Amino acid sequence: MPTRSIMDRLRAGDVLLMDGGTGSEIQRRGADVLVDTTAETELRAWSATANIEFADVVQQVHQDYLRVGADIIISNNFWTTPSRLELIGRGQNWEKYARAAGENALRARDALNPEAYVFGGISAPYRQDYRVTSPKPDVEVLGKEAFDQEFLGPAGVLSGLGVDALLPEYVGFIDDCVAAVDACATLGLPVFLGVRHITDYGWMQYGETLQDLVKALEGHQIDCILLMCSRPECVSVALPALRQAFDGPIGAYANVGYNPMAPVRGRTHKGDDMTAGYSPSRLAEFAQDWKEMGAQIIGGCCATGPEHIMALRPGVKG
Ligand SMILES: [Zn+2]
Repeated sequence: MPTRSIMDRLRAGDVLLMDGGTGSEIQRRGADVLVDTTAETELRAWSATANIEFADVVQQVHQDYLRVGADIIISNNFWTTPSRLELIGRGQNWEKYARAAGENALRARDALNPEAYVFGGISAPYRQDYRVTSPKPDVEVLGKEAFDQEFLGPAGVLSGLGVDALLPEYVGFIDDCVAAVDACATLGLPVFLGVRHITDYGWMQYGETLQDLVKALEGHQIDCILLMCSRPECVSVALPALRQAFDGPIGAYANVGYNPMAPVRGRTHKGDDMTAGYSPSRLAEFAQDWKEMGAQIIGGCCATGPEHIMALRPGVKG
């Protein structure tokens, strides 16, 4: 367990290096993260089952990020939520997977670097209608109770295990961001928010602005806002606006292009090859810009690996 809290470090002005992609990385290492590529739901529970079926691979990924200098690793809880696991008929067992994910990350941290932080990352819920052309917030479609339960369940397990902060992430609408933050805030841990799919114009996925997000979060327990799973260029457009709107710590972890349906290790899936359109050194240049824009937590999302985080290290922590 770290001697200084994450909030102490951020208040002191430290800039911290976060890990890179976990789901894409365990897939790259040969773990089966695809349950049924022919189904309408395609990814289904994705990397969630690997926490038990490939626990060694998940722990190795966490350890490799710590070895290259990550101060923060995110537990592989991304889809260990009831709605995701229900897609493969294991919704009743979500707690088993959520617990394994938390334990994998904490074990790796305790073994490699007790001063590193473990964030419990929990994705926005699965929805049957996620491809509709005029989407509505998850909390509106699912109802508040069902929405809250998606976060409260895994967050309760993770806080019981001793993670350092909760990270509701991959959240799109402002209403969902506020609801997810509120649900996680009931656990008494710092709450970090990962906002997904920032557009070329620096807006949120559905055209809302980061200024309006910050306004909506006023009076709620929000300890840090991060832009995530977006192209690096989009993060660079949006970060200054976020910096201007929000007084608290901000951060970024961009993706570098990832097709989870790509052929991996000889297994044939539909889609193009897994891509990594940005070299580690190119991502490091972006990271340098984000640091100058005020980001205090910088890492990678889908398709980034330990090689990217290693390249980011000198600029982020130097
Ligand atoms: Zn991502």
